[in-house]
Amino acid sequence: MNYTEFFKKIDAEIKKADSIVILRHESPDPDAIGSQVGLREIIRATYPEKTVYLLGEMPSSLTYIGEMDEITQEQFDASLIIVLDCANTPRIDCPFEVDPSNVIKIDHHPDRDVYGAISFVDTNSSSTSEILCRFVFGEESTWKVSKEAANALYAGIVGDTGRFLYPATTAVTFAMVSKLLEFDVDISGIAYHMITNPVSVSRLAGYIYQNMEISENGVAATILSQKDLEHFGIEEDQTHGVISLPSTVEGIHCWALFVEQPDGSYRVNLRSKGPIVNEIAQNHGGGGHPLASGAVVSTLEEAHQIIAELNESAKAFLSAR
Ligand code: AMP
Repeated sequence: MNYTEFFKKIDAEIKKADSIVILRHESPDPDAIGSQVGLREIIRATYPEKTVYLLGEMPSSLTYIGEMDEITQEQFDASLIIVLDCANTPRIDCPFEVDPSNVIKIDHHPDRDVYGAISFVDTNSSSTSEILCRFVFGEESTWKVSKEAANALYAGIVGDTGRFLYPATTAVTFAMVSKLLEFDVDISGIAYHMITNPVSVSRLAGYIYQNMEISENGVAATILSQKDLEHFGIEEDQTHGVISLPSTVEGIHCWALFVEQPDGSYRVNLRSKGPIVNEIAQNHGGGGHPLASGAVVSTLEEAHQIIAELNESAKAFLSAR
């Protein structure tokens, strides 16, 4: 990956623009918001005369990283558009129509849609925030880092590495974090936001540990209905806080959390410690990383089909060990 070459390309585009809009994927996680806020703060620190807007729906659980903006169609049309952390165009979260061929894309997910006038994808990077660190701390970089940028990028890296637990965490990740820490990063404050949950979500966590189905192949599955969400008094997006729970249970190799949507479909989050799960997500119209992916399925029957496919994948994984 030629970081220097791409840094020069994107910097040239930013220099030409008076106004810049930064977008990311829907149902954002800390890396989506952290990279979005981080890049805005880098541009603000480097080019204070430019205006930068962040767009997209914002869950209240992530406002500690930063806030989104509201703009008019005219302001949107007059801006350079940068899309971060979003592998496929239908998942770009934007209230205005986006022409994907006319944007700058920066991502670490495997390409689902090849899009963008300029596209930089490094699947070896733990996070999009880490990619931005490599731009800003690159040898030929002219970009500046502020405390605000460093805090947002750190939150993004911590989020996507599962607090430095996942295999995508590398020596480069720690090198970038070490540079960020020179800018007064609130390590404990960010950790506090990441590990604490409202009482309602904690009670749901107890329910999941109690009720998840565990197969003999080490596949765990939980299906939450709209009624369950009502019972626990939680919003759909708060269920992101409980996706990783089965990872702490001995003998579970991969797992799925299905959450019923108001229209009766199910959002599914797939996670794994070995068996490949993104091919299963892709079979059902979704995508993501080999060990962390997602999809939306229309029926309970399809949900059970995904659980069966997870069992096949876990079986193949176990027999290859
Ligand atoms: P999530 O389970 O929402 O945290 O997402 C994990 C990974 O799967 C991320 O890389 C997402 O971009 C990807 N992903 C989740 N849901 C979908 C979907 N419906 N379509 C495509 N990719 C998805």
